Amino acid sequence: MLNADEAFRQVMTWCHALPTAERSLEESLGAILAEDVLADQDLPPFDKALVDGYALSSVDAGNGLRDFNVSQTIRAGKFPTDELITGQTARIMTGAPLPQGADSVIMWEHVETVNNDLIRLPVERLIKAGQNVLARGREISQGQVVLPKSLRLNGAAIGVLGSVGRSRVKIVPQPRIRIVPTGDELVEIDQQPGPAQIRNSNAYVLRSLIEQAGGLPEVLPIAKDDPESLSESLSAGLYADILIVTGGVSAGEADLVPDTLASLGVEPVFHKIRLKPGKPLWFGVRHSAEELGQKPVRKVLVFGLPGNPVSVIVNFLLFVKPAIMALRGISTDPVAHRTVPLAEAVENRDERPSYIPARLARRHDRIAADPVNWAGSNDLRGAALADGFILIPSGPCRLAAGSSVSFLPLLPS
Ligand code: AMP
Ligand code: MG
Repeated sequence: MLNADEAFRQVMTWCHALPTAERSLEESLGAILAEDVLADQDLPPFDKALVDGYALSSVDAGNGLRDFNVSQTIRAGKFPTDELITGQTARIMTGAPLPQGADSVIMWEHVETVNNDLIRLPVERLIKAGQNVLARGREISQGQVVLPKSLRLNGAAIGVLGSVGRSRVKIVPQPRIRIVPTGDELVEIDQQPGPAQIRNSNAYVLRSLIEQAGGLPEVLPIAKDDPESLSESLSAGLYADILIVTGGVSAGEADLVPDTLASLGVEPVFHKIRLKPGKPLWFGVRHSAEELGQKPVRKVLVFGLPGNPVSVIVNFLLFVKPAIMALRGISTDPVAHRTVPLAEAVENRDERPSYIPARLARRHDRIAADPVNWAGSNDLRGAALADGFILIPSGPCRLAAGSSVSFLPLLPS
């Protein structure tokens, strides 16, 4: 059976960034930029006052002039048309353009107001050219590359795109991910389950995790454990970049997902990994039209996750999330998981490496992982109370309090 690292490597060999596309700014946060973005104009587009005060010529002040006539008031958003002549100043607000003839601004607190039309500079006050002024083009000059291709767009970058007038931009788009929950025992969450039924919580777990990972989830209706129903649902699920199926991949009689996927042309890559929870994981690929030389079909990565809710989460975080990131053009490193000390001793009696839910808590000035009391991989509530999962090596093994363990976070940091 494959170990988790090898399974990760196999998944990643099938993951490539999606073709670039144009998207609105609203859809671009966190995406990889696929073009160099140029400034359409100088920023700021004019010499701009950085404080409230008086705009004047540093040459006048340098020549010993102290008294200035206030010839105009300039507010932000208004372009001054009257030039200053020797001995004149303009009352100016933060963000407003300097008038012709001025090259500096003195804060209003630093002058003496003789009357409404006259101010006086204190003798000791020196005025330097450019003082309290952000020169035109100082932030960005027209035609300059303001954001380079391959940059990951953070909130500030989205703002820069806005300030150069780009409401649409070329990026690596978000992958579209369809979810097909399977199982005769499932009902929708707003229904009252019968004596042998459970609510379809996995669809909600996956939708949330996909959104956090930057994918676009779409949940399809519950598929029954019979070949026709399954085949119909799974073929609908293949209209996506990634299809996630939950349930039906273990060794039971009703576990028809692998065969049904194969009948739909999905090539199996691996089935089952050495991991707890999440052992029954199935991964395959439906090749694209070019690869198959057939009618137009797109390449789809297919993950068959076991139905147990916590298995779903662990498999998602370890394999599906990095695949989503790779399709978005963002590489992730499986060994980059943070390590934390254990708050208390833990045991693993299983022969598989095991993930158990834990909370991070401060212990003696250090952040330590405190295992959550839980009932195993069916216990979604145990995971709901956790910050993430800690990895305990294959058993039998016992780790003492203070031992360092790998931590897989549930929330994006
Ligand atoms: P399976 O992998 O189909 O054998 O399912 C394993 C366990 O997960 C069973 O207890 C199922 O009832 C449960 N399960 C399967 N699908 C879901 C789902 N969509 N939501 C919640 N639990 C599920
Ligand atoms: Mg099932």
